[in-house]
Amino acid sequence: MPDTMAPSVVDTVELTRALVRCESVTPREAGALQLLERTLVGIGFACERMDFTQAGTDDVANLYARVGSGGKHFCFAGHSDVVPVGDLSSWTIGPFSAELSAGYLFGRGAADMKGAIAAFSEASARFLARRGRDFGGSISLLITGDEEGPAVNGTVKMLKRLAERGETIDACVVGEPTSSRRFGDMMKIGRRGSMTVDMTVRGIQGHVGYPERLDNPIHRLGAIIEAMVREPIDKGSTHFQPTSLQFTTIDVGNKATNIAPGFVKARFNTRFNDLWTSQKLLAHLKERIERASTAVGGNGVVEYTSVEVSGESFYTPPGELVELVAGAVREATGVEPELSTTGGTSDARFISRYCPVLEFGLVGETMHKVDEKSAVADLRSLARVYEMVLDRYFGA
Ligand SMILES: [Zn+2]
Repeated sequence: MPDTMAPSVVDTVELTRALVRCESVTPREAGALQLLERTLVGIGFACERMDFTQAGTDDVANLYARVGSGGKHFCFAGHSDVVPVGDLSSWTIGPFSAELSAGYLFGRGAADMKGAIAAFSEASARFLARRGRDFGGSISLLITGDEEGPAVNGTVKMLKRLAERGETIDACVVGEPTSSRRFGDMMKIGRRGSMTVDMTVRGIQGHVGYPERLDNPIHRLGAIIEAMVREPIDKGSTHFQPTSLQFTTIDVGNKATNIAPGFVKARFNTRFNDLWTSQKLLAHLKERIERASTAVGGNGVVEYTSVEVSGESFYTPPGELVELVAGAVREATGVEPELSTTGGTSDARFISRYCPVLEFGLVGETMHKVDEKSAVADLRSLARVYEMVLDRYFGA
């Protein structure tokens, strides 16, 4: 007999609306985690705030909720923070008013990703109502308030704390809005890595009328950029797109018309696939840069002032977890989800170091945009998918 029958009254749509009304723009908690904590305690979870501070970064509130103490441990991971609203006057409804209109729930976080948190809460409530808290396994929610920001005081530290006290996770689904056009059409089984490199190209400053006395770093940088973008870095791998590289800024700040500057700064970002580690790729790119610079001749040099890796690429091979979730999506929606590794980074990159992880959630078309929204029907479908995932994972 189950020890306690938990009440099952969590409504995905109502909970999403309540969460959207909390203005939890990173790093503000704004009541979102408090609300979630009350909800989860009400259905039988033990909740623990894992708030972290670090000098030079914003204080961040996080919530870890778990029901069950043994057996297989399934974790749902997500974030309660949202990106800023941007140009408020472009919104046709209040970004935090959570209005329902024409079958949609509007508001910042409706898609990315308060809707998914609410859906998983309802799924858990229903599962626990049927099975009781003593179902022989463990379910947890790992919710950070620092995903859209620097991601320093969030998921990384929560996972570390769990590991330090010997708490292991066996499988994880992240509720990012992975569906592309239609609910259920895509899940993410990996992500590309991301690396940003700042460099300074140094030459010899001089009067433009005396080119023989100067070494123009802008011209050198031009040759370097040419060499870096002319040939693809790779052709992609079985599960990943080709590695891409984009220069994002070039800064000289030279106001004079008769002086060639002494140096120029540039920054590029690369999204790399599983053929590379950030280290291997950096070495490869530096080699390309040096070769191009040498070909220019002269005395100019390239200095690397900063290399920031926000994540290595990761990949969960199609197997038990992928098939389990894909099956639930298929059954609930009739749609076959594409197994994708496209898009930006997510906190799944941290979780992948601990257990198999994939991402599945709402349609992400309006994420980070004005008039962010989710279809009410999709919110209900997502709750059903997550509930099926729990049933399949723990055995009906
Ligand atoms: Zn997100």
